Amino acid sequence: MSEQPQCWPYREANAVIDHLERAQSKDGKSADEPVIFETGFGPSGLPHIGTFSEVARTSWVRRAYERLSDRPTRLIAFSDDMDGLRKVPENIPNADMVAQHLGKPLCDIPDPFGEEDSFSGYMNAQLRRFLDSFGFDYEFVSSKDKYRGGHFNEGLLRILECYDEVRGVIAPTLRKHIREDWSPFFPICENCGKVNNTRVTDIHPEDGAVSYVCDQSFRGAEACGHSGTVTVTDGNVKVGWKVDWALRWYVLGVDYEMYGKDLIESAELSADVVRALGGEPPAGMFYEMFLDENGAKISKSKGTGLSIDDWLQYGPLESLAWFIFKRPEKAKKLFFEVIPRSTDQYLEALSEYGSAAEGEKIDSPVHFIDAQRIDAGEDVSYDSGISYSMLLNLVGVLNTDDRDIIWEYLCRYDEDAEEDRDAIDPLIDCALQYFRDFILPTREYRLPDEEVMVGVDQLRQFLRDYEGDDPEELQSAAYRAGKDNDISLGKWFKSMYRLLLGQDRGPRLGTFIHLYGVDETLQLIEERLAEADGKD
Ligand SMILES: [Zn+2]
Repeated sequence: MSEQPQCWPYREANAVIDHLERAQSKDGKSADEPVIFETGFGPSGLPHIGTFSEVARTSWVRRAYERLSDRPTRLIAFSDDMDGLRKVPENIPNADMVAQHLGKPLCDIPDPFGEEDSFSGYMNAQLRRFLDSFGFDYEFVSSKDKYRGGHFNEGLLRILECYDEVRGVIAPTLRKHIREDWSPFFPICENCGKVNNTRVTDIHPEDGAVSYVCDQSFRGAEACGHSGTVTVTDGNVKVGWKVDWALRWYVLGVDYEMYGKDLIESAELSADVVRALGGEPPAGMFYEMFLDENGAKISKSKGTGLSIDDWLQYGPLESLAWFIFKRPEKAKKLFFEVIPRSTDQYLEALSEYGSAAEGEKIDSPVHFIDAQRIDAGEDVSYDSGISYSMLLNLVGVLNTDDRDIIWEYLCRYDEDAEEDRDAIDPLIDCALQYFRDFILPTREYRLPDEEVMVGVDQLRQFLRDYEGDDPEELQSAAYRAGKDNDISLGKWFKSMYRLLLGQDRGPRLGTFIHLYGVDETLQLIEERLAEADGKD
């Protein structure tokens, strides 16, 4: 038996295997039924980077599971389109029209964009388009279809049957004044159509029904006062959020679902509700939220932080997937500065993947990130030594958008670079865009001070005399030019980056000189010194 793969999707896949054993002994889930992976989507807003990362991470766990087991699997993307609208989202047209429908299920509110049959119909269509564009393998399932199509009936009746047990899980967690009145059921008012404004006044388990009154007004949504009795089946009522999650797990037989850190408590309560119903809650993990560059939580409604489209301007999709793959349990700042490093780490992983032994490949993030290409039999290796940060430095000094010129330098640096042209060309476009948007506006060349100039003179002399083209020799000459003249190395390299690139940070100088050329670098130094001189 070979060693168990270590990366986190396998850890999760093993948790799925343990869960299945428990589920089998408890509710008799048979061993040839498909294993259900689920991700949830709230259609009160558009899909975003969080949606992408949850579906991607769940797909990775599914892939790991499929490595460990032959059992069939399904991935359900579940939309909560029966949820009532609490607040009109920002940035939508016809906000006034939508405001009149506050409190109604999202699937009963007209589409403010005028394209689909309902508000959630529009968001669901966007979700599917979004997921399809990344090639995710999933099945779309909607809460509305499940409730109104009667698929949840059995589970809803089971909740009515276990009413006290379910109340016993949730009620103690509620504030005192709402605890007494609380019911898992929220009838959809037969008069005004709202779900957020009703309150159950009595239950009739023998009839599978509940009595209610529509008297819970909240800001922007008046309750109409209607009272009545409805069966809990066929979409007449919805259950409240934590019970809703449990209902879905219970009826659909969900075996795995992950969730954001903010939902840990909900997930634990939902799991207890499933147990109260006699089911086995799914395996799952929580992931940390993305933060903006100041370390604040990214707000969906305010739209802070980076969008996927933003990212794709500056880095390939795989670099975003890399960022998402790495340590999901750790909070990460999601802003443009992480793109170059993510891209380079991904390229490194690609190179390692290419040279890894067959058995080790499945433990590489590349096995997950590039699943579609790998499964299609494509070669996903990357052998070139060209990195994204190198391209950024190169386009910075070359001052050109001309790919042919850029390629001239790349081929001189690495004669095999052409073999990775398909991967490098889009990187050049990204690097040009990144350079224009983020580096150019902050670029400022500075003349070194007298202390550093002594080192610059030594390096110039070396470059004039040097006849080789070895990055290590060049690096050691650059290093000596600082060291020999007792310049602190931090200051020395920073001054060189300021002189050559107009930035505080930069590449290894030896690598840079090798890439840009010995004569060209010498000439660049002369030009920068002359320019700076002219300004004084
Ligand atoms: Zn009403």
